Amino acid sequence: MPANPIAATIPFDRDGKHHGFLRLPHSRNESAWGAIMIPVTVVCNGAGPTALMTGANHGDEYEGPIALQALAHELQPEEISGRVIIVPYMNYPAFRAGTRVSPIDTVNLNRAFPGAPDGTATQKIADYFARTLVPMADLVLDFHSGGKTLDFLPFACAHYLESDSQQAACVAAVEAFNAPYTLMLREIDNVGMYDTTVEAQGKVFVTTELGGGGTASARSARIARRGVRNVLIHAGILGGTVDHAPSVMLDMPGDDCYHFALSEGLVEPLVDLGETVEAGTPLARIWPPDRTGLMPIEVPAQRSGVLAARHFPGLVQTGDCLAVVAEVLTRG
Ligand code: CA
Repeated sequence: MPANPIAATIPFDRDGKHHGFLRLPHSRNESAWGAIMIPVTVVCNGAGPTALMTGANHGDEYEGPIALQALAHELQPEEISGRVIIVPYMNYPAFRAGTRVSPIDTVNLNRAFPGAPDGTATQKIADYFARTLVPMADLVLDFHSGGKTLDFLPFACAHYLESDSQQAACVAAVEAFNAPYTLMLREIDNVGMYDTTVEAQGKVFVTTELGGGGTASARSARIARRGVRNVLIHAGILGGTVDHAPSVMLDMPGDDCYHFALSEGLVEPLVDLGETVEAGTPLARIWPPDRTGLMPIEVPAQRSGVLAARHFPGLVQTGDCLAVVAEVLTRG
């Protein structure tokens, strides 16, 4: 396989704090010999584990970028044992455009793994993470939120894995993140995900969904900033004790958690995030977008639980994910 064209402008193995870039050559009309400059910070101090922390895998999700910008600014080498690699804007072109996928190639980074060193810009970024950065790490934290089209209850999550010991290590790190909700997730579409690549390399993996709607809130930004420090403490990289508060344990055990719109129209929400529903409880009405005088379509819950995610924009298209109902395992 060809070498990846991305080059880091800072060392990964020198003690101290270094701010720089992952430089991806990108020849284009506006800049013949130009490059995509992905900001990166490496904080390193002696022996210890390595944490790789990423935000903006999807470019319209902001809690990760906020928490990781703050961490890159605040974290000092003398506070840690080991190494922290911080990339606040993983899919940098998408982040700058404020879009989920890259405006350069319309590729969704979180469906592009393991990537290709001779592929499109997004595929090259994926390959660089898969073959260069992830192998350096013991623990990987990848922040997500709902982006412009979804809104989530704030949760950290782990996946069901084949290895019991790896799954237990991931669950322990997710519990240390200590979001208000903690979820065990069976992905419905895991081919090409960063998550899958990281887990296949045997790493401890933590991911989140901390809100959405294409913005952060004061609450979701606080959850992200606190969670990233908790995970570093749990990993033994940062000193101190994990700041622990009760967290509601959720599960999404089956496909019936997901509610997809079967018609287009104007959404009238009937349940807000975090509210309890029974099977059959109407979650939303969809009113016709083009006329008055017709009945709306009601979308009933397919199972009991809490509303964990919802479609964010006021208009819905057929096939959009309208609502996700999660099962409550324990109430913290
Ligand atoms: Ca996302």
